[in-house]
Amino acid sequence: MFPTSVTGGTCWTGFRTGFPCQTDNSAVYFYMDSNGEYELEATDKSTVNNAIDGEYRPTALAFHYDSSPVFSGSGETDIIYQEGSTGLPDSVAGTTWCNAKGGDGLDCDQQYIRIRGNGYITYARSCHETGHAVGLQHGDNSSPRLLNSDSRLGCLVTPSDGHNDLGANNRENVNATY
Ligand SMILES: [Zn+2]
Repeated sequence: MFPTSVTGGTCWTGFRTGFPCQTDNSAVYFYMDSNGEYELEATDKSTVNNAIDGEYRPTALAFHYDSSPVFSGSGETDIIYQEGSTGLPDSVAGTTWCNAKGGDGLDCDQQYIRIRGNGYITYARSCHETGHAVGLQHGDNSSPRLLNSDSRLGCLVTPSDGHNDLGANNRENVNATY
């Protein structure tokens, strides 16, 4: 969980910059693009919802769908899910980044998740990127450091399609943080 001995203590902003930081509230409002360049098809929305329901609703985080997303000001919609590959290197299936810091330096007011289309939006990958959006790290950015493939990382293992389960360690970190 952000911050760790690797990440530094201040939330990073910008596409593929730094490390994932925390979301700014235990009430997590999320939106999935429904039109335009980054639209998720119905089946992909269903997959993301299933991962949120199965892995994150049993935590201290309360997820709410925001059908009227807010993209400016101090109370932006917390997580915006996009389907697309713009800006992603060929080797990368998905990424999460903060575009607006929250209030205390550790957290982000609005996180973006972008995952490639055509079958890349899986339950495991939705769990993985949603984990980043609430501050969970890969193994080599964790304290203590772990191999990126360590099964204790649950769905935060790399490659990102490896495990469906959030796992007990991540759940404890989330519950201790929020
Ligand atoms: Zn990752």
